[in-house]
Amino acid sequence: MDGIFINRWDGSGPCFCEHCQKNFKGASGFELPRTNNPQDPARRAYILWRQQRLFDLWQHWDRAVREINPDSCVIPNTGGGATSSLDMKKIGELAPTLMADRQARHGLMSPWAIGMNAKEYRAALGMKPIVGIFSVGLEEPYRWKDSVQNGAEIQLWVADLVANGMRPWFTKFGGVLHDERWLKPVEDIYRRLAGWENYLRNERPLARVAVVYSKQTAWFVGNKVEDHINGWYQALIEARIPFELVHDRLLDAAHVNQFKTLILPNIAALSDAQCDQLRAFVKNGGSVIATYETSLCDEWGVRRKDFGLADLFGVGWKGRAEGPMQNSYLRLEHDTARDHPLLKGLEDAPRIVNGVWRLEVEPREKFAQVPLTLIPSYPDLPMEKVFPRVEKTDIAQVFLRESGKGRVVYFPWDIDRTFWEVLSVDHFKLLRNAVEWATNEAPPVSVSGGGVLDVTAWRQKNSMTVHLVNLTNPMMMKGPLRELIPVSEQQVRLRLPDGARVSKVHLLAEDTKQRFTQRGRELHIIVPSILDHEIVAVDLV
Ligand SMILES: [Zn+2]
Repeated sequence: MDGIFINRWDGSGPCFCEHCQKNFKGASGFELPRTNNPQDPARRAYILWRQQRLFDLWQHWDRAVREINPDSCVIPNTGGGATSSLDMKKIGELAPTLMADRQARHGLMSPWAIGMNAKEYRAALGMKPIVGIFSVGLEEPYRWKDSVQNGAEIQLWVADLVANGMRPWFTKFGGVLHDERWLKPVEDIYRRLAGWENYLRNERPLARVAVVYSKQTAWFVGNKVEDHINGWYQALIEARIPFELVHDRLLDAAHVNQFKTLILPNIAALSDAQCDQLRAFVKNGGSVIATYETSLCDEWGVRRKDFGLADLFGVGWKGRAEGPMQNSYLRLEHDTARDHPLLKGLEDAPRIVNGVWRLEVEPREKFAQVPLTLIPSYPDLPMEKVFPRVEKTDIAQVFLRESGKGRVVYFPWDIDRTFWEVLSVDHFKLLRNAVEWATNEAPPVSVSGGGVLDVTAWRQKNSMTVHLVNLTNPMMMKGPLRELIPVSEQQVRLRLPDGARVSKVHLLAEDTKQRFTQRGRELHIIVPSILDHEIVAVDLV
């Protein structure tokens, strides 16, 4: 036996048996909490104690198994993003390998949800092997464990899993096949991947942008963390910017120095030490983009008087929030000489919709340009009352600073969460432009052409790859799909390592050798069409 994988090992909610009562009291001095309020001292202690018990149990089993076979191990089914209950940093330290268990879409979930799962795991496990378990059926609360999903959906789910650095592992309940329609699609997937294998031995991702996720914010503040992350995730996919996720307890130089820009999507809970790490990141030339309540609480979710990162933002909190705001707007302060790059693509827009929640803040320094100002809420009914009471204010709604070689963007409102809820293209443009302005360097890869693509880029020992996963889907923004629709020609520009020479460019899905042009460090390749998943493989000499 090579190892033991354990599903459903971590209980089914809180337990109030005599042992749990006694153990918790012994460890914390508290009775078991009867509230979900994370600011209740017993609840806070319970969140940490429960994790410690489970990590102890995992190590206990693992030791027992390794006594029998030192090469073996116990792998509990665990891990995930900001809202999962166990600390991913600790999991990353304990696990030599791990299986991610987001098996398929449920409801209207986007197909990029599996790529996100891969990024969540890699943020803590680095380049340790991570397996993506995928289902061949419908993954819904109604437990159709003998069901079969259509081939197009299985194919695209696995494509995004592979493009984001996981190894696919299909799962099927039971040995009796009541419906054989999944066999051919799964066979085709593995045949194709076997042919591509040399180019799937990734050594590192090439992304220069990363989004931070924070379990401690979810545990102790619980402010809809996923909605803020999802907003950024959707925007970065739409903008075709390769990116990674970063765990908030791994902000040390070794984990973040590969990135130019870190995005903090309403990461409310940050310790003084974490704020120092972010300051050091900017001091070393990194850039930071933060939204809304970022750094307004300490690591226990206890509110500070001011932002922990007030100096980085150049802004202080006035102690008040406003929301939910109705019928509020942002005035775009166009500069007749030269618009701020934040307003790219919005040249003809005098105003756009605001978010839903904002903090009242005051600048601590003079900002050279203020491209967004507040148009306060005004009545939306009755009709004759619908006119702005104040058309122009000097209340800035974005703060852009340069700090050495780094840049800092702070939005005092919930732009990312609102984008996830409303999907306004104007908010998308602000998010994209903020990343481009903050990053301020030639991107590792850029892809132009029609459609929605998940773009990831990787380095292998003797090659580089660009994965292009076609998420364009006739069922619009929704995850369910019936067929794959090819996108037309894409222009791929890839930045080569200094001094690298290219011997061959291969399109793995098309299975053709592709012509390319190289100008300095920039490689230009035309990809004629993409059905589901194309890999541009570049051999280096
Ligand atoms: Zn118990």
